[in-house]
Amino acid sequence: MANYTRTAPELRFFAKVTKTNECWLWTGHKSPTGYGRFMLPGPDGGVVQAHRWSYQHHHGPIPNGKVVMHTCDVRNCVNPEHLRIGTQGDNLQDMREKGRHVGNPEGVREWMRTNAPKLTYELAEELRAEYAKGGVSQRELGERYGISREHARDIIARKRWQAPPAS
Ligand SMILES: [Zn+2]
Repeated sequence: MANYTRTAPELRFFAKVTKTNECWLWTGHKSPTGYGRFMLPGPDGGVVQAHRWSYQHHHGPIPNGKVVMHTCDVRNCVNPEHLRIGTQGDNLQDMREKGRHVGNPEGVREWMRTNAPKLTYELAEELRAEYAKGGVSQRELGERYGISREHARDIIARKRWQAPPAS
């Protein structure tokens, strides 16, 4: 029982992974941008990006302000061998080098738009509930949800994402 909390996330995580000879594909819920989303239970829990969880689990903590990049370009891949630390700038550079958007500013904007964190009212409610439980800072919540601390603060203060749009 003592090991329960330590092993449970791992068991839950790999239950949602299909390993191929190359990529380990996340088969659970995905964000609109195609990255795996993994829900960690418990007081330290919350929604994390599956590839970030995998990186931390296998390689250790992600330095503050850094992103976890895919060397394989498969967004729902969680193979730690295909993940490396970079900056958002590296990420853009990497994209240019791979020729996806060379000389195409519209493509770069599109990439920035689709890679920007996506929130939903459901997630905003989740974030508020987590903050209400206590023990987590606005900054930590921001990182967990891929948004700025200011954005997290505004959500908590219900200045943003107050209610679903009237249908
Ligand atoms: Zn991969």
